[in-house]
Amino acid sequence: MPPRDKSLTTSSRSDTNNPKDIGVQFVKGVGPALGAVFANRELATVRDLLYFFPRAYEDRSRITPVEALQEGMRASIEVTVISTRKIPMRGRKGRGGTMLDVRCADATGTINLKWFHTPHGLDKQFTEGKPILATGLVKKFMGKAEIVHPEISGGVAEASRDVGRIIPVYTELDGIPTRRLRNVLTNAVETFLPALPESLPAKYIQKWGLPSLREAVKFLHFPPTDHPDYSPEKLVAFDTPAHHRLIFEEFFKFEFLVLRKRANVAREHAPAMDPVRLRAHLDHLRSLLPFQLTDGQKKALQDVVGDLTRADPHPAPSNRLVQGDVGCGKTAVALLAASAVLGEGGQAALMAPTEILAEQHLRNAQKLFGGKIRCLFLTGKTTAAERKPILSAMKVGEPALLIGTHALLEDPVAFKNLDLVIIDEQHRFGVDQRRTLREKGVRKDATGTLLHPHMLILSATPIPRTLALTVYGDLEVTSITDMPPGRSPVKTHIVREGWKPRAFERIREELKSGRQAYFIYPLVNESEAEGFTDLKDATSQMELLRSEVFTEFKVGLLHGKMSSEEKADVMEKFKRNELQVLVSTTVVEVGVDVPNATVMAIEHSERFGLSQLHQLRGRVGRGSHQSYCFLFIGKRLGEIGSMRLETLEQTTDGFKIAEADLEIRGPGEFLGTRQSGGLAFKIANLVRDRDWLLRAREEAADLLASDPNLTDPENLRLRDALKHDGFEQS
Ligand code: ADP
Ligand code: MG
Repeated sequence: MPPRDKSLTTSSRSDTNNPKDIGVQFVKGVGPALGAVFANRELATVRDLLYFFPRAYEDRSRITPVEALQEGMRASIEVTVISTRKIPMRGRKGRGGTMLDVRCADATGTINLKWFHTPHGLDKQFTEGKPILATGLVKKFMGKAEIVHPEISGGVAEASRDVGRIIPVYTELDGIPTRRLRNVLTNAVETFLPALPESLPAKYIQKWGLPSLREAVKFLHFPPTDHPDYSPEKLVAFDTPAHHRLIFEEFFKFEFLVLRKRANVAREHAPAMDPVRLRAHLDHLRSLLPFQLTDGQKKALQDVVGDLTRADPHPAPSNRLVQGDVGCGKTAVALLAASAVLGEGGQAALMAPTEILAEQHLRNAQKLFGGKIRCLFLTGKTTAAERKPILSAMKVGEPALLIGTHALLEDPVAFKNLDLVIIDEQHRFGVDQRRTLREKGVRKDATGTLLHPHMLILSATPIPRTLALTVYGDLEVTSITDMPPGRSPVKTHIVREGWKPRAFERIREELKSGRQAYFIYPLVNESEAEGFTDLKDATSQMELLRSEVFTEFKVGLLHGKMSSEEKADVMEKFKRNELQVLVSTTVVEVGVDVPNATVMAIEHSERFGLSQLHQLRGRVGRGSHQSYCFLFIGKRLGEIGSMRLETLEQTTDGFKIAEADLEIRGPGEFLGTRQSGGLAFKIANLVRDRDWLLRAREEAADLLASDPNLTDPENLRLRDALKHDGFEQS
């Protein structure tokens, strides 16, 4: 990287009234108590406070008559108090408290407003005959309309301020009334906003017709009234110029950093491999396979070989994601690549999220290459005595493939020539874990050049395009969309309460004709079911299925709380058909391969993500018999829930399912909690704001090409902003 021009950096440093340098306690109205609450929420500076944006907007311009209220709607009502009641509550664990029930009415009907664990003195506010305006979510209780914990304004003065227009809604701060927060924000905006420095280069502001940062921040908190660009509809949809401005900025910064990271990796060096020899190894290995590769596998292998042998301008470490449905043959591709690397004298590592999976990979490797490549196996169960020769083989640089679990990440595991790192089911691992394994392959070659291994990442949870562009923007992506021949698609049926007996009969027929079945439940045992008493749990259902339903068959239980020996034992029995029915939680989701199983029955399927259900479904349909997936649904599943599941009935295309899932459940499903942390956009939303994401990405790519170090004077403000976000070192 070229040296930074220090003088430019310092000259652009802002003066001391920059809100990022001022503690939040300097805002008028913030005393020690409020300051402590802010500190708890990581709102330390005035800038943090200004960036504490509304999470939603509520249109209070319309008052709904009580008789028109419907369950599930958010509404504002204008009513008068008829009576109040305090009802003692008998809580679990002996915690009592009172419930406040305020009966109100307008000319059209009556409604109850309720508070649980009534705050002290709240009841005194509701004197009989007092007019109030209440807003909240309407529910029905014993046939009567109610709002639990409504927001209340009383009196004409308050009403004119809060009602009859659009109200920003903030994430709740412990015990701080919205009105108090809004007062403080008013002060912060008045006093400090004028000193908030612009962070976007002027050309983007002009090109996309965006407001300045100051205007945007102000309008998010205090939208202008009667402005066509800030109509209630637009605000509610986060579709105003102020929103666009901050959404664009958030995506733009993120994309710039992702793309720059990718560019930096491209500058690193990887071990050089001879394309001719590598291909010769591969041809030989392919001739050993008991099957022909599918077109998708061939293409994927070509991509991977291209990565490994790329030499222009220098051999650079690759970072490739191979995604495709369970059973499409990703592992086979990875194993081929690994064995080619071994043939060249290098080492490879394959890390899987569970012991069951790791063992399956080991067996697969042995099956595919008939012992022609050296595989070593390391998990948490490997004894110290077994470990020793394995660790030393890798350390001295024997050409071998080390297959294992998280155990590969441990300190004593070291490699001499780790050229290829393979991560299976990558969303089960954190970014840091991937990095740890990669770093074990970093070394110097004879000339002192630092070498980095290639990364090959496998995923059966297809990543929606939007995510592939963002979080995984530093990955190349190959998708395998076909399946090895001889597999018929699984027939999927949503089963409502009344149809259950029919489905069970169908399952019994399968069992009678010699097939096996999985039954999946969301919980291990009843104690987990707090608050969801109607949820079925694996343990008690196992008993029920065994003793009452499938009495003529053997039923086993598998769940994540069992030790890995117990799990392996049950799996082994199921594989050997000593058990015909396997009752399980989602631990069975990853990687289990029993071709004779033809039924996947999932209870409370509405509780699972679509991609997860799709993965579970992938456990069957692995043999030559027709397979079935039954999605049992609880009684209370609403319209949206069943529409969601219908996606699964209609398609077996994991990519379509992933897109649908992203829209419904957000990115957490694909990233795992560990990884979505890095994607905590303050205001942008990957699904809603997809257009802005694509724009931002394009602009970021242009900028990276023209001014990667942000030294151009017009880009300095962006550099400062990134520095403030903690990304740019000075
Ligand atoms: P994935 O990792 O995508 O779930 P695998 O590579 O584990 O899939 O393959 C699943 C099963 O199919 C394995 O038993 C594997 O040996 C087998 N298989 C892989 N590719 C093919 C192919 N082209 N033709 C037939 N069987 C295949
Ligand atoms: Mg797999």
